[in-house]
Amino acid sequence: MHHQPVSQYHQPVLKSRRCLLERAEKFISEIYFTDCNLRGRLYGDSCPLESLTSFLSSKRISFAEAASQQFTPHKIGETFGPTWCTCWFKVMLRIPKSWRGKEVHLLWESDGEAMVWRDEQPVQGLTKEGEKTSYVLSDCLRDEDPHSVTLYVELACNGLFGAGQGSMIAAPDPNRKYSVQKAELVVLNRDVREMLTDFEIMVDIVKQLGEGEQRGYQALFAVNEMVNLCDPAEPNSFAKARSLAQSFFTQRNGHSQHTVHAMGHCHIDSAWLWPYEETIRKCGRSWVTVIRLMEKDPEFVFTCSQAQQFQWVKSWYPGLYTQIQQYVKKGQFIPVGGTWVEMDGNLPSGESMVRQFLEGQRFFHQEFGMYCKEFWLPDTFGYSAQLPQIMQGCGISRFLTQKLSWNLVNTFPHNTFFWEGLDGSQVLTHFPPGNSYEMKGKVEELVNTVKNNKDKGRVNHSAALFGFGDGGGGPTQLMLDRLKRIQDTDGLPKVRMSTPDQLFSQLLADSALLCTWSGELFLELHNGTYTTQAQIKRGNRQCESLLHDIEVASSLALWRDKAFQYPQEQLQRLWRLLLLNQFHDVIPGSCIEMVVEDALGYYQDIRSDGSGLLRDACRHFGSNEQKCDSSAVFNSLPWERNEVVQLQDAAGQTSLALVKVPSVGMAIVKDTEPTIPVSVTVQADGTVLMENGILKTVINKDGSLASLCLMEGNREAISDGCHGNQFVMFDDVPLYWDAWDVMDYHLQTRKPVLEVVAPVQVVASGGLRGSIAFTLRISDKSTVTQEIVLDAMCPYIKFNTQVQWAESHKFLKVEFPVRMRSPNATYEIQFGHLQRPTHWNTSWDWARFEVWGHKWADLSEHNFGVSLLNDCKYGYSIHKNIMTLSLLRAPKAPDANADMGTHLFTYAIMPHAGSFQAAGVIQSAYNLNFPPTLFQTTADAAPWSAFSVDDTAVVLETIKQAEDSRGTLLVRLYESHGSSVTTMLRTVLPLQEAWHCDLLERPDHTQPAQMTSEGVTLKFSPHQIRSLLLVRK
Ligand SMILES: [Zn+2]
Repeated sequence: MHHQPVSQYHQPVLKSRRCLLERAEKFISEIYFTDCNLRGRLYGDSCPLESLTSFLSSKRISFAEAASQQFTPHKIGETFGPTWCTCWFKVMLRIPKSWRGKEVHLLWESDGEAMVWRDEQPVQGLTKEGEKTSYVLSDCLRDEDPHSVTLYVELACNGLFGAGQGSMIAAPDPNRKYSVQKAELVVLNRDVREMLTDFEIMVDIVKQLGEGEQRGYQALFAVNEMVNLCDPAEPNSFAKARSLAQSFFTQRNGHSQHTVHAMGHCHIDSAWLWPYEETIRKCGRSWVTVIRLMEKDPEFVFTCSQAQQFQWVKSWYPGLYTQIQQYVKKGQFIPVGGTWVEMDGNLPSGESMVRQFLEGQRFFHQEFGMYCKEFWLPDTFGYSAQLPQIMQGCGISRFLTQKLSWNLVNTFPHNTFFWEGLDGSQVLTHFPPGNSYEMKGKVEELVNTVKNNKDKGRVNHSAALFGFGDGGGGPTQLMLDRLKRIQDTDGLPKVRMSTPDQLFSQLLADSALLCTWSGELFLELHNGTYTTQAQIKRGNRQCESLLHDIEVASSLALWRDKAFQYPQEQLQRLWRLLLLNQFHDVIPGSCIEMVVEDALGYYQDIRSDGSGLLRDACRHFGSNEQKCDSSAVFNSLPWERNEVVQLQDAAGQTSLALVKVPSVGMAIVKDTEPTIPVSVTVQADGTVLMENGILKTVINKDGSLASLCLMEGNREAISDGCHGNQFVMFDDVPLYWDAWDVMDYHLQTRKPVLEVVAPVQVVASGGLRGSIAFTLRISDKSTVTQEIVLDAMCPYIKFNTQVQWAESHKFLKVEFPVRMRSPNATYEIQFGHLQRPTHWNTSWDWARFEVWGHKWADLSEHNFGVSLLNDCKYGYSIHKNIMTLSLLRAPKAPDANADMGTHLFTYAIMPHAGSFQAAGVIQSAYNLNFPPTLFQTTADAAPWSAFSVDDTAVVLETIKQAEDSRGTLLVRLYESHGSSVTTMLRTVLPLQEAWHCDLLERPDHTQPAQMTSEGVTLKFSPHQIRSLLLVRK
């Protein structure tokens, strides 16, 4: 490389774009010509460590525990492991005196993810994958600086993305070995570093602006001249080249140019390809690195979501947490999102979603004195149509995500728009057009941000989130250096370090031309996540029901017995476990086996602690002194129920009883005879006829339904010549994302399950209950055993199902071909329901070949319909007249054993006259999911009801103690039919006053509720959620 005089800049060269561009690229190449190029000069002198010793731990232990261990000498290149171990290194180093005035780094290249500890404090994360391989010992070494330093390096034996065997999402390799490839002291030549950054950006501008733009040629000739001017061996030559770059970068834009709001970010999955416990360390490593960058750059802004992760760092890294609090105060470290975790956007119940915000916002308020103003969910597999209302109820009117850019079929038409929810609530929504939440501050990303923006002309501002995710430690100094150089450079968008508040304020100020998208944001990908890891789904649904019942029962116990202690702390702990498992790679089932084990363990905690709390609350319903010798039932739902329950005596003998229990109340179990008993008849052809006065069904020997008849009006629900309750198997091989994806082509591989192992046999012969059982062979490894149950007075037939499942890449579903024709089917979602088409007309229709729903889905004509209910499933498809419930999948990555074993679940079929609203489908689905609680009480206890609602359209969903006041109850109701109604919430509780409040339980003092001695009058619009604070007398 020859130094050339400046005068030669005006010497023409060939206008060969390729030659000049490659010349500049080679000048900074890490591979070619490093003997003479600029890159080869990045590091100056180096010096070995004084000593490197190590200690291997199979557990994740504290610094104090690690530091007291015996460390033994460690050779560079020596391997250690296996996966999930932690290797602690003690690094003793001495910086040469002669390096005075130099920038000194510890260069550390290793596998795994590491944290540097100094003076017993975490000081910086190190990871090759996150481009963090050096720890800065001194920016400019002075004589008085410590020259002898001891550091500890805590190295986790897993990569950024776990330890997938062969591919990222493959099950982890438990035997992987790790090593340190380089550990030494080096002098970093800061002037070379800066010069390299200039070159890199110039080269990128040439590439990105392409041949069509003259600005790209200006960059080309400028960078070529920079090579002419810059002699790598002669640092004095850099100034001229740098000033050429500088003058290029400062040729400014016109006023109309797009503005990119850059925000540092580190998307950390709370568990995914690594267990929860590792996430705590990923947070520590990433956030401490962010603090180091903030110390140097007061303009650097970092956005950080998930209250749970803050809570983890608070308890595991208290020193770091104190520093974070300081930078939150300064406005640089910005908590965003307002939720406990970045949860799945489809599967959590309405109340769970409220609690995500309640726990999150209250945490941020307690810790930092602020509520988040934006919901932040970049990486979730679809977004419920109720989220806008829930956000608004939690003080949030802005939303950021980008996941819909992953749609397989249709391109979402907006990047900035108003998203309108089920009830009409709107939130200002932004999808960063760069389609990433892990940018690197590169020219390409900025160009794409402008190019991809689908609201050109409407919007002139966008977000760019930069930083490595998942423990890569977030942003780097290099990213900040890049962004600094091109804040206002002609040909590129303007870039400024910004905050979510600044971005959204700007978007709102210019919102006049924004479009509105109404209804759900459905992700046309990852549709297998409604079904994968069935035990997690079941744990979620059951624990949601259990926590609901505990809260209702505890609220009533508080009213019945002043001495009762509402278990607030215990409930918060259990709720937080449930909310944690709703993280967007846990409840969808897209996590490794270790995470599944943790998640199922948390559900077990909730079940065992929760059932104790529920029992305890019910005990306070009666007087404590008297002998409790009678069985009673507690009904947590806001309507009267007549149901058959199964009792168990002290000897373990079971019996059935028909109970009538008032809304939100209790009753003693009495022997009641049904007005119409169930009859079960084995017919001459071997089929079984069951009827209960409401339904009549004929069951074939293989368990399928030959007929299902609504006796009122004698309406047959099963399609002519078809069978209901038909199990079907599909080949289920997606393109890549195994646990996540089911592709449309799986539908072409449908095979009915027909082989009978044990034909239908009568189990319960009628009276209170009729039931039959049978077993089918799915394959030589898998079977399904089912009990079909018809109870007295019950409007639906239950299918209690047990599956032995040992398949590979298969999908089990059950079909009900029904005698129904309608262009739309209805699916329950959070606090409401929505319709989706039953046809595949357009690409938007057929991309929804597999959809999610909660407790029920319905297909109705005018005046007649069929509903398919479930107690722990979420995947549905209703195409033409076939209603299908998705039951089990068998993906092999990232959990090689996903869903293998025994599964229990129940679904139910409910033909009905009139609309599903009028027929009580919603109530039936609740009944199926919230079985009455049996408990012992005194024999003379009279039945009582604490709450009821006049209009069946309104569901009283939640009754709990208010978060901030012991004498106050919080109740939450929603309109479930899609109608405008005025109704009364009746209660026997003596009320002092009642206030409307938001979902964070903040009372609206301008709105006292309309109260009389009987209760509170309430007005609802369709699917509206209302919360009230009821203050006891
Ligand atoms: Zn994620």
